[in-house]
Amino acid sequence: MRVWLALGSNLADPLAQVDAALNALRTLPHTELIAVSAFYRTPPYGPQDQPDYLNAAVELETALAPEALLDHTQRIELEQGRVRKEERWGARTLDLDIMLFGQLTLNTPRLTVPHYDMLNRAFMLVPLLEIAPQATLPDGTPLNHVLTQLDCSAIQRW
Ligand code: ATP
Ligand code: CA
Ligand code: CA
Ligand code: CA
Repeated sequence: MRVWLALGSNLADPLAQVDAALNALRTLPHTELIAVSAFYRTPPYGPQDQPDYLNAAVELETALAPEALLDHTQRIELEQGRVRKEERWGARTLDLDIMLFGQLTLNTPRLTVPHYDMLNRAFMLVPLLEIAPQATLPDGTPLNHVLTQLDCSAIQRW
């Protein structure tokens, strides 16, 4: 299955965090890293009293089931020092979100796919569309059309 992940980091040297995450993703079982977007610098989403984020997107080809992939992405987050805090959308060393898992729609206690808020987040859609310009939602909605409705003015290259 083709899968697209969103990567985010704004603590402890984001460039090094994302490099380490890419290396970890390259070693996942039954999985190939197909494409990596450019790295973007974006303002924080939610609380503003935190550093800017490095955001990127990757494409994987995987034979893992969705929740098995989530097990791995959560393990990688923890291995890179992710600490779960009270504050929603607070600063973090590494965030790995599954944006699209093929054309699947999933709603389990652990996993909502497509990512529930990606349509509102230019920092997810800009890197995604860079590596997957034709990407659509499972219902066929073209994501490039969605992005034209969003403000991208604060998104720069890292
Ligand atoms: P947001 O989800 O709004 O981007 P966040 O990434 O900071 O916020 P986390 O604390 O990283 O949120 O994750 C909370 C929970 O979201 C995780 O425990 C995970 O089970 C769940 N989750 C649901 N759907 C997904 C998905 N598509 N990708 C990653 N995690 C997901
Ligand atoms: Ca705060
Ligand atoms: Ca997130
Ligand atoms: Ca997350």
